Amino acid sequence: MNFEIINPSNTTELLSAVTKLSKKNYRFAAGCTDLLLDLKRKPVKDLTVINLQTVKDNRLTGIKKMAKVIRIGAGTTAHALVTDEDIRTWFPTLHEAALNLASTQIRQVATVGGNLCTASPSGDIACALMALNATCEILNTRGKRRSVSIREFFTGVRTTVLKNNELLYSITIPLNEASPKTAAGKKLYSGFIKIGTRKSMECSVVSLAYHIQSDNKGRVTKAGIAIGAAAPTIKFTETATDFLQGVKPGELSAIDRKKFADLILEYASPISDVRATAWYRKEVLFNISKGLLEAMPA
Ligand SMILES: Cc1cc2nc3c(=O)[nH]c(=O)nc-3n(C[C@H](O)[C@H](O)[C@H](O)COP(=O)(O)OP(=O)(O)OC[C@H]3O[C@@H](n4cnc5c(N)ncnc54)[C@H](O)[C@@H]3O)c2cc1C
Repeated sequence: MNFEIINPSNTTELLSAVTKLSKKNYRFAAGCTDLLLDLKRKPVKDLTVINLQTVKDNRLTGIKKMAKVIRIGAGTTAHALVTDEDIRTWFPTLHEAALNLASTQIRQVATVGGNLCTASPSGDIACALMALNATCEILNTRGKRRSVSIREFFTGVRTTVLKNNELLYSITIPLNEASPKTAAGKKLYSGFIKIGTRKSMECSVVSLAYHIQSDNKGRVTKAGIAIGAAAPTIKFTETATDFLQGVKPGELSAIDRKKFADLILEYASPISDVRATAWYRKEVLFNISKGLLEAMPA
């Protein structure tokens, strides 16, 4: 397959390339770990690939902690998420999701933007960002930005709200209610459960990202729970999250823990494929959801 490659060196060149190509076949390329497989499956005639890796722009690549949010450029790699101290201490769910993605080699190049824009139901970084209630910042060819909640970003299997003249620019995540340094007595229960058919180089059969904050009495003050590979898009399980509000999870009865798992299951409409049957995915999801509360410290 032949295609032309454009290597813009800054955002102005990038936007002007997109403007020129807007009526032609073009694709953005970040780490290319999804793109190349996609192009092999569905070759495109007269294709131009716009390389995002050559664009020098601090907003497009890098992680920055600000007063109320952490901003992550769309071109930031999974490896950068794994090694960033702020991500590890503020958002363990995202750290773990990135750490469990593919292999060391793939994590060096696979980006946050690629994981979101490929819109796979099993995207691990996307699942953690959903639990964290992230906001996607989108840039268009006129240099205008718009913000979309991650809950509205995915429109179906491998489709997003991005228009032809837009790209994903960065992602922001609200900081936790208490800083890890000053959170005396407050608790953060945050992680990523990935079930696959093997330990590495494996897309999730089912995944569950959780980010639960409690006050110094152990009552949940804020929670985010998302599931992956269980529906056409990654889902924020709102009713299950609401169920936890104000309760002490460690004191929930077995009946309540089952109710919580049932609420999560309401968001699941999985398919059977080479990795697992729909039945198996639901069973696993139910069990890891119930187990999540059982394992939660009182
Ligand atoms: C062997 C293997 C194992 C894998 N394992 C996992 C896994 O465990 N978990 C997981 O979640 N994924 C996995 N993947 C999938 C893939 O690595 C990830 O989805 C990765 O994050 C994609 O990022 P990328 O930078 O390589 O995207 P690319 O391949 O460069 O791009 C993917 C898509 O997004 C578009 N795009 C990229 N950046 C932007 C942007 N800023 N704005 C608009 N569109 C953009 C591209 O045009 C393309 O359509 C695996 C892939 C392989 C090959």
